[in-house]
Amino acid sequence: MRAVVLGAGVAGLACAVELAERGVAVEVLERGERLGAGSCSWYAGGMLAPWCERESAEPQVLTLGVESLGWWAARFPGTVRRGSLVIAHGRDAGELRQFARRTEGYEWLDAPALAALEPDLAGRFSQALYFPQEAHLDPRAALAALAASLTALGVPVRFGTDAQSCRERTLAAQAAGATLMDCRGLEARDALPDLRGVKGEMLIVSLPDVSLSRPVRVLHPRVPVYIVPRGDGHYMIGATMIESDQPTRISARSMLELLGAAYALHPAFGEAQIIEIGTGVRPAFADNLPRVRRIGGTVYVNGLYRHGFLLAPALARQAAEEVLARGDAPEVMHADTRQRRLA
Ligand SMILES: Cc1cc2nc3c(=O)[nH]c(=O)nc-3n(C[C@H](O)[C@H](O)[C@H](O)COP(=O)(O)OP(=O)(O)OC[C@H]3O[C@@H](n4cnc5c(N)ncnc54)[C@H](O)[C@@H]3O)c2cc1C
Repeated sequence: MRAVVLGAGVAGLACAVELAERGVAVEVLERGERLGAGSCSWYAGGMLAPWCERESAEPQVLTLGVESLGWWAARFPGTVRRGSLVIAHGRDAGELRQFARRTEGYEWLDAPALAALEPDLAGRFSQALYFPQEAHLDPRAALAALAASLTALGVPVRFGTDAQSCRERTLAAQAAGATLMDCRGLEARDALPDLRGVKGEMLIVSLPDVSLSRPVRVLHPRVPVYIVPRGDGHYMIGATMIESDQPTRISARSMLELLGAAYALHPAFGEAQIIEIGTGVRPAFADNLPRVRRIGGTVYVNGLYRHGFLLAPALARQAAEEVLARGDAPEVMHADTRQRRLA
């Protein structure tokens, strides 16, 4: 069997890996000149946090997300499994209790237990939620690892190749029996008009004086923010959620809010060096759930919203199974071991 995957974001690379591992002859076409150029995946926080996300997401996000923890650990040695923390400032303590009521998989920590886990937060918060099974990764290193795995599996990733401008070639491959797997993120709106964009703004800062070893979410009724350690004293601070498909620059308000939240977590963030300011646009369907959708012989994997790294492995597995079974379901999303088909 042959497959042509369009797009080398996390969805496209995960799909290509799943197909190649099943013996399918795959090639990947990527419009950007290099890994990450023009992709939303480049700006992700890299949190693999299915229990935290369940607080505001459908049950499928938890079920499918749990599957991805092992997938990443098996394929990317940089997957860090130290759990994650959720905290709130005294005046927002109600937010923490509400968060806890809406999910599971956590332990309550008191101040000494929090200090034992993260000594640099000692004395700053009286309680926290700890999700011990969660993980995180550096998305850029993870994308590079997937691309390297593809090279090892003999899969070419053709950068600087716009699938639209070589449409003749992809149609010819399709006519010769190859499956087209479209993972173009928001660009696939020409075929998936129900996709929308949700802009996310983020910062990367350098702060060697503070040591955090797991992601920390700071709850706030209006501006929830998280901080993800990237190693070498670097931290990703994210992320806004703005209903917009414009990857415009960060607004002054967002910058103030992100930095303000980091400063409130630990005043040393006031001295941090800003390394990078980035924005990405998340592709999302109306219900914020991803889809594997087959239209006219092309399989679309899209709508990963704020869960691209969390859900791409499970979606890629579903898509590969669908291709190999030569299924013709218009849409598939397995919520658990039972296959659920959505018309
Ligand atoms: C600030 C921020 C923080 C986030 N944090 C997290 C997080 O902590 N955890 C998590 O799981 N998710 C997170 N996400 C969400 C995650 O980044 C997205 O869900 C994911 O990146 C979507 O991946 P994708 O592969 O569908 O799209 P993309 O990453 O956008 O990839 C699409 C690719 O297709 C290529 N392409 C487009 N058109 C063509 C064409 N015509 N021909 C060839 N190639 C084409 C593009 O160049 C691009 O490389 C975050 C997102 C943002 C913005």
